[in-house]
Amino acid sequence: MKPLPKFQYHAPRTLAEAVQLIDTLDNAKPVIGGTDLVPLLREAACSPSHIVDLNNVAELNYVREEDGFICIGATATHSQVAASELMRKAPAVVDAVSRIGSVQIRNRGSITGNLCNASPAADSAPPLLVYDAEVEIVSSGDTAILPLPELFAGPKINSLEPNELVTGIRFPVPPESSSSSFKRIARRKAFTLSVVSAAAYVEMDGGVCTEARVAFGSVAETPIRAPRVEELLTGEEMDGQTISEAAEAANQSVAPVTDMRGTAEYRRDMCGVLLKRALYTAVGRLS
Ligand SMILES: Cc1cc2nc3c(=O)[nH]c(=O)nc-3n(C[C@H](O)[C@H](O)[C@H](O)COP(=O)(O)OP(=O)(O)OC[C@H]3O[C@@H](n4cnc5c(N)ncnc54)[C@H](O)[C@@H]3O)c2cc1C
Repeated sequence: MKPLPKFQYHAPRTLAEAVQLIDTLDNAKPVIGGTDLVPLLREAACSPSHIVDLNNVAELNYVREEDGFICIGATATHSQVAASELMRKAPAVVDAVSRIGSVQIRNRGSITGNLCNASPAADSAPPLLVYDAEVEIVSSGDTAILPLPELFAGPKINSLEPNELVTGIRFPVPPESSSSSFKRIARRKAFTLSVVSAAAYVEMDGGVCTEARVAFGSVAETPIRAPRVEELLTGEEMDGQTISEAAEAANQSVAPVTDMRGTAEYRRDMCGVLLKRALYTAVGRLS
């Protein structure tokens, strides 16, 4: 295994201390699980002079409901989120985080790290996009809320300034009449990134879909929503014909690339297949 490069390690105990370190140290990077960052360090793909470990900042570790939002603190691990009773209100998020990597990866890795790494294949992104999630950001003397799509600036590029820290993710508590699902295709069942992924969110009134949101991973430079597909579903009877039309529209809504994990044609075709599965599961969860 390649050795780690030299850096200074910092383990602040409060958020104020972490913000001060990130703000004042030259070339500093935050770390949570390190499951993305450490491989990058070993490959010399990034070489920070300082690493600021957020795991001892107790105020960043929570999954809770607050002011009408479900809030996930920055250091909450995938395992923690998957096990949370509250998260049953957002089943697509649980679907995604309970399958990321392996048990070891899920015990270390976080949703915040998954999103900040900004991979088009980040599994937590499509489900959080369909829940209209927002990112809570803090920098020296300032706080901001960013709609999740604005965090993604390009493949593996986020829009954060070097002195900004994500403190958590939040999304509105979903109504009782809603459900969701996340599906993915990967080369193996575990320990590998998605070739394509899809998340579907529906609000239902009887058999009619009153609100639909869909999102895909690994089919564009960033995880994306598909507004045309959402328009097709909203206000419609959720039957086989509607779902098939939505799947066809999904295939037309994406422009994937060919890479080592799959061809563009395969990814395009699988978008519709995964969307169908996600929609049937989401609707089925309400019955
Ligand atoms: C074997 C293996 C299998 C994997 N399988 C999957 C998979 O199936 N699906 C999937 O989506 N991913 C997978 N991954 C990728 C990875 O595990 C996830 O992306 C993980 O969620 C990252 O979280 P982390 O806490 O480890 O992030 P870290 O590695 O700690 O950080 C990731 C990036 O975010 C930055 N960052 C961290 N915290 C903050 C903060 N608070 N504010 C601003 N920036 C911050 C870091 O500086 C770094 O650039 C896999 C990785 C491995 C090694």
